[in-house]
Amino acid sequence: MSFSSENLIPFGEQTATGDLVDVGEVEKGERCNCICPSCKTPLIARKGDIKEWHFAHKSHARRIKKETEKPCDMSFAVSVRLMAKQLFECGAHMLLPKYEKVYSLLIPSFLPLRKDEETKTYTICDENMMGFSSVEIEQRRMGSVFDLILNVDGWEILVYITYQGRSFPKVDIQAGSRVGLIEINAMEIKSAFKSIASGQYKKALSDFLAQSYVGKKWHYHPREQRAEEDFNKYASQRLEILKNEEKYNERTIGAASLIHPTHPSNQSGQAHATAASRPPKSKEEIEQLKKAALDGAINRYIVILGSDKASKGSNHVSRERIMGGFNNFSENSLHKCLSCEFVWSGKTNSCQQCASYKYSRSII
Ligand SMILES: [Zn+2]
Ligand SMILES: [Zn+2]
Repeated sequence: MSFSSENLIPFGEQTATGDLVDVGEVEKGERCNCICPSCKTPLIARKGDIKEWHFAHKSHARRIKKETEKPCDMSFAVSVRLMAKQLFECGAHMLLPKYEKVYSLLIPSFLPLRKDEETKTYTICDENMMGFSSVEIEQRRMGSVFDLILNVDGWEILVYITYQGRSFPKVDIQAGSRVGLIEINAMEIKSAFKSIASGQYKKALSDFLAQSYVGKKWHYHPREQRAEEDFNKYASQRLEILKNEEKYNERTIGAASLIHPTHPSNQSGQAHATAASRPPKSKEEIEQLKKAALDGAINRYIVILGSDKASKGSNHVSRERIMGGFNNFSENSLHKCLSCEFVWSGKTNSCQQCASYKYSRSII
């Protein structure tokens, strides 16, 4: 039996003072003189030999002899946030975890891009130990009630304790808000309670707040905005570069089909003939070059891939474009299937032998 397995109460509210006390600090049983910080029901202090020490609601304890009482849902979180407030007010510190944020580049579908270029990671803040000038509990901010409002020179850290059935609220943060949002997972607090002697939960909580980065998670940091602005700038520049590359590639693909000799019987090939000032390559030469490109031997042409399985590896990535299955290539496009080595020309990139386009490399 342990703290993590049930929703037990580690801290009671002392009726005489209103302070929160550890079950280890009070007398056993009804003489503890405490009430539940959540529902205000009188508590009894359970300090047995077998089970972890804890408080229990008195009404439940009377009705049910066995230790199966299920305290009011909020009692654990309520008692923890009250005790945390008390600890911070007495000068306790909190270790704030490192905060890294990964931004993803949203790439328009017409710009194929390799995976590793899609994200950028920013360190918003490093791990940091903090004390707080004042602490409030259960305050409404941006439409949600937060467990702890920790004041740090000019800005607030809003803490929300989550557990099963109570997830972090959706918060709309206005740009430039001097506010930080942190989630603390109650299950991690409970496991901190598990690893300490019974009745020392106050110390366990204090240690958890000051030492643990597990179970604490940033949801927003005031410095995040700067990273976001920086990333947006990076993203628009990056997209511009990609678009230019794409234009360049289109020109190259266009050029590739231009140097392809027109059919002898086709008289409309005049324009091509005048445009080509260098000695025209023979059909055989071009065929050789295309085959070499399909084999990945030269980088002269843009190669269209049926899937990433048809790639010739990282050296060729800049000239490869994944397109999927396609049945409307120009008639004289050349294709090669990497799986069966079959080479064909025509409108489709689907290999006849494999009945698949997955391993096909194509040149228009
Ligand atoms: Zn209660
Ligand atoms: Zn094949």
